[in-house]
Amino acid sequence: MSYCVYCEQLTKPTREHVFPSFLNKRADRQGLYYSAAAEKYVEGAPVVRDVCDACNNETLSRLDDYASDLFDRYFVHVIVKPVLFQCDPNRLSRWLLKVMFNGQRAFGGVEKSFLPYRPYILGKDPYPPRKVFLFGGVMVPSKFEGRFVLPRDFRLSELRPDERLLGVEFDIAHMLTLNSFMLCVISLKDVKLEVLPSNITLTLKNGLGLVQFSDEGEIFFDPSDSRIDHVSHKVNQTRNKPWLFGRNGNVVVGNKIFKITAHPRMRQSGSAVRDNKLSLMSVNVDNKLFAMIGFQVYPPQLREIQTRLGTSISESKRAYAIIERRKYKTYVTLVDPKELGRPHLDMRTGIEQSDENWRLWRSAFERTGLIYLIEGVGNAPRSSSVLCAVPILKVSIHEAGTVGL
Ligand SMILES: [Zn+2]
Repeated sequence: MSYCVYCEQLTKPTREHVFPSFLNKRADRQGLYYSAAAEKYVEGAPVVRDVCDACNNETLSRLDDYASDLFDRYFVHVIVKPVLFQCDPNRLSRWLLKVMFNGQRAFGGVEKSFLPYRPYILGKDPYPPRKVFLFGGVMVPSKFEGRFVLPRDFRLSELRPDERLLGVEFDIAHMLTLNSFMLCVISLKDVKLEVLPSNITLTLKNGLGLVQFSDEGEIFFDPSDSRIDHVSHKVNQTRNKPWLFGRNGNVVVGNKIFKITAHPRMRQSGSAVRDNKLSLMSVNVDNKLFAMIGFQVYPPQLREIQTRLGTSISESKRAYAIIERRKYKTYVTLVDPKELGRPHLDMRTGIEQSDENWRLWRSAFERTGLIYLIEGVGNAPRSSSVLCAVPILKVSIHEAGTVGL
């Protein structure tokens, strides 16, 4: 017995597919699933095992039935000319949120952002806690080594928009790609904004070719709006997440190695990390607080020492921290004083941190003047785990503005 992650009733858990089984059955897909949230490829159909029978086989499966109809009508096709897409935006939003929430749990632990949306997903609440904006876009085929590579896979990704540039903090900015169809859910931390500021819609359009659904659930999926093709998408992932692909586009899943089709040969350069998965922690040692950052993928150039908290630790000469606090999120930039233009860590999307945790974390780094870097997120640090102690260059605190409207 365990608690259902959706309705919180104590029941016998059932298996729920992250990507509904109709996708596995009907799609002519490749053998791997990519999760940008988890930053890895997985083989076979990922499942979660924390959903009760009633939620899984009644409420959520009705959403799957709806999406399955949309799949037969639209998603199964490769978009070659503009497609007028019509849907019930409410049911599509709920289904997308469900798939994204399931994906987060299957690949990357419980994502707190999705928890308040559960009553809406289940249909118990007619409105989401924050207004949900739906966007769509087209992933076009690529010409690669003289042949066309069709976008035929499913993927979940986190968009990680540049919040400081856009002047907002995002609650959800996730995308599900089904073959040619990119389906994106956006919501903002600031519940007062009923309409998305135009700088956001323009950025999504210019950057990813995403267009907003009408309130009635209509949109043109127009390939001439597309900013992204199947192979370039992989190239971008390779650039942003070089650790993911190994050499020559080989992906390791468990004990197997897969060759990603149409993986462009390109050289990796630099080791700067952008939008790594991080956690901010305050750790108490001998009644003293230390401010830490845990990295899911530790930047190798910042492996300077290996020591325990509480001893005298030599300060990093390679990295300085710039910390910015907005209303809900904290942003950390790690710069090399000799290479200011190429930060070790450049965070476009902040890390959500409650006011209480922010105050603790801040008091800790103000006490020592340092932030301690460790490998791993979400776990209590091991005793000899500090790999770098970064002095703080600058702290700025301000609430998210509404610039650029
Ligand atoms: Zn349930």
